[in-house]
Amino acid sequence: MTGIVYTRNSMRFDLITIFPEFFTGALEHGIVRRAREAELIDVHVQDLREFTKDRHRTVDDRPFGGGEGMVLKPEPLFEAVESLLGHRVGDAAAQTAPDPRTAIVLMSAAGKLFDQERAQRYARFNRVVLICGRYEGVDERVAEHLATEEISIGDFVLSGGELPALLVLDAVTRLIPGALGNEASSQNESFGARQDLRGKAEIESQLASHESRVTGHMLLDFPHYTRPAEYRGWKVPEILMGGNHAEVAKWRRAAAIEKTRRNRPDLLSAE
Ligand code: SAH
Repeated sequence: MTGIVYTRNSMRFDLITIFPEFFTGALEHGIVRRAREAELIDVHVQDLREFTKDRHRTVDDRPFGGGEGMVLKPEPLFEAVESLLGHRVGDAAAQTAPDPRTAIVLMSAAGKLFDQERAQRYARFNRVVLICGRYEGVDERVAEHLATEEISIGDFVLSGGELPALLVLDAVTRLIPGALGNEASSQNESFGARQDLRGKAEIESQLASHESRVTGHMLLDFPHYTRPAEYRGWKVPEILMGGNHAEVAKWRRAAAIEKTRRNRPDLLSAE
């Protein structure tokens, strides 16, 4: 910890799920654990079945229009969120305006893509409610009238929203001031900040094919090395062991650009 005192209230995450035990263990390691212990974040896991009214605690039903699988019903989800927020969200006749400091996020393969920019935005909220879908998904009225956002963590389909919710929680938590030991560190990471690459001739030459559009790009992190200096004959780049900080910085920047071009050329192309 840095010894700096942060005055913000802790940020609250609510995870709404039919599998509350899923989160056991997942919140008990590393940065997320420390952030909870330091009360930078407060995580509440809400069992969706508490908001069912029938003997079988039914959360799903067959899809209108036919087809495979089951769909999560709207009533338990609306009521779970309303109980957490402490007020009704309304109905078709009159909907309550959402609280601008609270995000109600539906995890969905059909959502907008989650990225570092969105994580940074969430880190400024007081509260993030994460709704975990299951089966074929969730009644669309949840996306339309309950959630403030519908978010996907990537172009693939998982069996539930619990892993995606954990992923969002982790990415947001490490951006909360004080959560990382070293305050500067999230700035220098992959996607940390848009970099202006113009004016560095030696770097621009590496970007020959992108020369006309090299401003305001996201870069991936530079490669990291630790001891041993030589392992199975593979050596750590000489420059990193020389102690010349300017040279090291230059190497890291060039290596970050090279790696971005190799692994994520899309980040360097025009927006
Ligand atoms: N029929 C849906 C997939 C349902 S998967 C479709 O084709 O889009 C069941 C649940 O898993 C979803 O409701 C969602 O909460 C979660 N899920 C699956 N893939 C996801 C992804 N890429 N991002 C976020 N949530 C996802």
